[in-house]
Amino acid sequence: MAIVRYRYRLDPGPGQRQMLARTFGCARVVFNDALRCRADAHRVGERLSDSAIQSRVTAQAKRTPERAWLAEVSATALVQACGDARLAYANWFASLAGRRKGRRLGHPHPRRRKDRRQSFRLTRQSFALRPNGRLSVPKVGDLRVRWSRPLPAPPSSVTVIREADGRTYASFVVERADVPFAPVPTEVGIDLGLERFCTTSAGTVVANPRPLRKRARTLAAAQRVVCRRHTGSRRRERARRRVAVCHRRVREARSDFHHKLALDLCRENQVVHVEDLAIVGLARTRLARSVHDVGWGAFLRILEAKAHHHHRTVVRIGRFVPSSQLCSACGRRDGPKPLSVRQWTCPGCGTTHDRDANAARNILAAGQAERQNARGADVRPGPRPAARGEARTRRGAA
Ligand SMILES: [Zn+2]
Repeated sequence: MAIVRYRYRLDPGPGQRQMLARTFGCARVVFNDALRCRADAHRVGERLSDSAIQSRVTAQAKRTPERAWLAEVSATALVQACGDARLAYANWFASLAGRRKGRRLGHPHPRRRKDRRQSFRLTRQSFALRPNGRLSVPKVGDLRVRWSRPLPAPPSSVTVIREADGRTYASFVVERADVPFAPVPTEVGIDLGLERFCTTSAGTVVANPRPLRKRARTLAAAQRVVCRRHTGSRRRERARRRVAVCHRRVREARSDFHHKLALDLCRENQVVHVEDLAIVGLARTRLARSVHDVGWGAFLRILEAKAHHHHRTVVRIGRFVPSSQLCSACGRRDGPKPLSVRQWTCPGCGTTHDRDANAARNILAAGQAERQNARGADVRPGPRPAARGEARTRRGAA
């Protein structure tokens, strides 16, 4: 079992569009009010319970003339926004105290009206799926859904999202049963790169599609148009939307490629060994744009989710393995080589290596050794929380 998101496009009518906009706005205001309420209480040393804050920024606020309009939208959306603020605050505190993995978090940002992506969330009790396939959202009405594929189970919550390009989506959280693939004996190591997206220990080379670079000129032209338009004008809004559409196409192309490759790797191999990359570090270098364009982080998340779903294993190798220095044939360490060296011959055993395929074979060996050591421990992790964009709505992608 895994908890995943299924995303579908919505087709709201003009009136519904307006009510959705109002709900996005109210959820945003409540989120910001809740943040401010917590910050104020913290400053004066007042201890407020979560429910006290919630009541202050929702129920009590509705009775004041400045916030009376909060009553016009779904109360659940407001309560959920309040919960988001609580979580954002808790994450920040945990990060400050060093109880949280990953990068240090800053103080949670207020949401802004001009944010490109707007959303609100509803829980099971507050939305309904009609027999005619429509999604019923309180105070908005029954929204038409483009069911690109069926939901695998009844959803536990839905997030309604408006993207920067003006499209509206419903993202359902569902529990999905695993679909195990028949076991195969093969294991593979993969070396991720920029020139080639990846090279496998079996010698397969997958080219890097570079979706952003391909559309870079169109995108730059569209962005120049935005700059020429007057701030706040309709034409500027239209131009801005064209940029957003361009970005969406880049995103979709990249994601499609990731999903297909991840599925192929899972289908053909029982275990996939990959290098744990220092992506954040690399993304701060001269290569930043290329590193973002290639999207290794997103790819690894997709690969791990798919492996979980189909009962395969992904092993991440520690970064200390000098995968490009070792000879995969005899194990001799030959010292670092500049990136321009694509091929080299081992002075120990005389084997000529393709740099990346050799690295992939070393990754495979290191991963197998790591697993040997960890034998007995459960290698497959338990269910993980649903990640954004983990499951796609397009057919053939998942
Ligand atoms: Zn050698």
